[in-house]
Amino acid sequence: MRIVLLGAPGAGKGTQAKIIVEKYGIPQISTGDLLRAAVAAGTALGKEAKAVMDKGELVPDSVVLGMVEERLQKDDCKKGYILDGFPRNTKQAEALDAMLSKLNMALTAALSVDVPLEDLMKRLTGRRTCKSCGQMYNVYYGPSKKEGACDKCSGELFQRDDDKEETIKKRLEVYTAQTAPLIEYYSKKGILKSVSGTGSINDIFAKVSELLGLK
Ligand code: AMP
Repeated sequence: MRIVLLGAPGAGKGTQAKIIVEKYGIPQISTGDLLRAAVAAGTALGKEAKAVMDKGELVPDSVVLGMVEERLQKDDCKKGYILDGFPRNTKQAEALDAMLSKLNMALTAALSVDVPLEDLMKRLTGRRTCKSCGQMYNVYYGPSKKEGACDKCSGELFQRDDDKEETIKKRLEVYTAQTAPLIEYYSKKGILKSVSGTGSINDIFAKVSELLGLK
């Protein structure tokens, strides 16, 4: 399975990707996670990326393309991969196609997780992530049992710097202008599948499994 996950910030792409990772052992390649790791490591690239991410804008295409190309060549991607948060614009999608054809690992599907734009603000402002294991919660829709602590590993929960209201507005604008056109891009290629991202995580995953032919 070689897939791209499409959807607005907060649509639940990462949540669905994590279930696929757990069940099928296929790696999730999230450019947002890779960038946050560079920020946490304090590298020059991380420092440059943080300024852009905090504004809700996209980091330069050359930066993410380099990261993705390097990651796709690791051994664990031989059995497939889930690209999450990448590509974010048509230029990245075209560069990805060229890269995958060179590596002989073309996409099998692009899955769009659709959530009405008006629901996304609450989903994003409520989002919390475990510092230790990456498990995600939402203070409105799916809180942890103990406030601020992870149910799975008791790790500390944090709110992403870019999940603040002003930055979210900008991220949603960027999504609409630059990323949403990719739905059409993959539709034209005949590999687009769409699922509603509203409802319980398990119900959505059941539909995702069906669409992707997972057993
Ligand atoms: P995400 O975790 O996917 O919501 O990404 C968080 C932020 O990282 C985005 O708002 C961008 O600033 C940056 N980012 C993540 N993926 C990409 C990408 N493919 N291209 C450019 N910037 C990205």
